[in-house]
Amino acid sequence: MFTIKPFDYILLKLASRCNIQCTYCYWFRDETVYAKDKILNEDAELNLISALDRHLKKYQLKLFSILLHGGEPMLFGKNRFIQLCRKLRSVTQTNGCRLNLSITTNGMLIDDEWCFIFNSFEIKVTLSLDGPPNVHDSRRIDFQQQGTSAKVIAAYFLLKRHQIRTGILGVCKPDTNPILFRDFFVKELGETNFDILVPDATHEEQPASIAGFYKSLFDIWLHEFQSTNLRIRFIETIVKGLMGYRSTSESIGYRPVGTITILTDGSIEPLDVFRIAGNGSTATGLNVAKDEIQDLADHSLWLEIRDASLNLHPTCKSCAFHDACGGGHIASRWSRENRLNNPSVYCRDFQEIFSYISAKIMPSLYFAENDKKSSIVTEQNCSHVSI
Ligand code: SF4
Repeated sequence: MFTIKPFDYILLKLASRCNIQCTYCYWFRDETVYAKDKILNEDAELNLISALDRHLKKYQLKLFSILLHGGEPMLFGKNRFIQLCRKLRSVTQTNGCRLNLSITTNGMLIDDEWCFIFNSFEIKVTLSLDGPPNVHDSRRIDFQQQGTSAKVIAAYFLLKRHQIRTGILGVCKPDTNPILFRDFFVKELGETNFDILVPDATHEEQPASIAGFYKSLFDIWLHEFQSTNLRIRFIETIVKGLMGYRSTSESIGYRPVGTITILTDGSIEPLDVFRIAGNGSTATGLNVAKDEIQDLADHSLWLEIRDASLNLHPTCKSCAFHDACGGGHIASRWSRENRLNNPSVYCRDFQEIFSYISAKIMPSLYFAENDKKSSIVTEQNCSHVSI
């Protein structure tokens, strides 16, 4: 049984515009984002800091996480960014709360000064990079239709030189051999920790099958996670789900959806990606100028999303992969006819992926009672590996 706990994680939109135009971007599929302030407006920033102060005082939170997001969040500009981070650090510190700050960026604007800022405020950076240049450049393009990989790769190495905690986030390109992703990330960048997300889609579309891609990606992971410490979050979440662990990801696995989003005009909204359901689909009318952050938990839209994340469609309820899949990403269940009362639009693919992975790991799985860890005994060398 889940209880609604005070929100302790915010996705904060610093910009509602972007400096590139990726072909699959979920954000601009909702045309109402163009009506929002281009960057977080100063009143909204002040109101957010006050609302956060009241929230922390009321709920006595010891840890709060904020993901700085966009559009492209670095369009916010360095001076405003520094001022905001100072205020966020100050308000959390005053309340005896530890603040986890992170940012997701396309990397186009990263330079030494930005790296200095990230280090000063202990900001973890997640870089959007879709694998090798030819794959990345086919989808992540600028306004001159040029690929952006060269700048992103340069940004990656700059972040590494400044010893900034950096993660890599890509999106699955179903017709691509995932070995190309592995080769590029591991061999070219020397990066063994990355994630590759399922493309955003609803039942109003017919997305390409992702089963082949993720089955191959799993094989790569299984073969290499001991020798190279290869870590692929989406795959590991599936494997852990099949082992009986509760998901810590919104992408896959049974868990309540609890994300809240603050927009550049101070609007308070639920799960950001849900905007692929159509124009204005995440609007609530709530704003930090007049409402408390926790008020979202009483809003009908937030309750609908949360309820759908816990009360799955009958097909999912009777599915062998109910816990490990959890009906997939909540936005992927959307249809105009049934709203969120559907299995994932990727259900057939997930069935295939989960069956494949399950068949490979279950015979090798054992539970070590004394250390409460699950392990896989792999065929390669029969050593015990805990994840
Ligand atoms: S595989 Fe399909 S039926 Fe099973 S939980 Fe996932 S979406 Fe639901």
